[in-house]
Amino acid sequence: MALTACVAETPQASRSTDAKPTAATATPSPSGAARPSLPLAGRTVVVDPGHNPGNFRHTAEINKKVDVGTHRKECDTTGTATDAGYTEAAFTLDVAHRLRELLEQRGAKVVLVHDAERPYGPCVDERARIGNAAGADAVVSVHADGSAVGNRGFHVILPARVRGGGADTAKIVAPSRTLGEKLAAAFTRATGAPPANYLGGGTGLDVRDDLGGLNLSTVPKVFLECGNMRDPKDAALLTDPAWRQKAAQGIADGIGAYLEG
Ligand code: ZN
Repeated sequence: MALTACVAETPQASRSTDAKPTAATATPSPSGAARPSLPLAGRTVVVDPGHNPGNFRHTAEINKKVDVGTHRKECDTTGTATDAGYTEAAFTLDVAHRLRELLEQRGAKVVLVHDAERPYGPCVDERARIGNAAGADAVVSVHADGSAVGNRGFHVILPARVRGGGADTAKIVAPSRTLGEKLAAAFTRATGAPPANYLGGGTGLDVRDDLGGLNLSTVPKVFLECGNMRDPKDAALLTDPAWRQKAAQGIADGIGAYLEG
């Protein structure tokens, strides 16, 4: 069975730990001005690890259609993998764990859409609902692409303006674009990775109207395709734990830049 390109989307499992953001303490800066040591205290970030390692064993379940407002589409997809068999689902979970750590260090409350605690999924509609129910200040869905060899680099997927059924992105289009722009800039800085050379005209930004995880979101949300697992050079980066730490750092920096305005 051919691997499904990453495209589908994916959303979560809430983390049961309920680390309460402690009140931001102020640390005097050299200038004497107070600088919060926990700049994201009181903010909620939902991290959506794309796909699920168990999806490969539950293809019948994930192929069932769900209502994404504008249309119906598959519950979830398997995601892609490198030639060596490192799966996108393993990649997204690893980056999500690293990202959670970094965001919690800054005082944010972090909710993972899933942590592989369920056999498959969740479905894309539920992934969106988890972010909405959390009242997230920002949601980032972490992915890696499954494109042709030679296609390299990362890109951020922004929600298009859509309306239909339960989908209405009018209120999230603008803030999601701001989040995506901050994320793209910070991701390049942290990883040294260039924007994708195969879409987005070199901006690292793409806009889509077919992703249920975006269409059903009522809070600012973007997808990040960190690189192309099907390209050997990108795959070498995605497979490297040190690079994944840089990726998580870039995402945390981008979210921080967005939330700290
Ligand atoms: Zn994906």
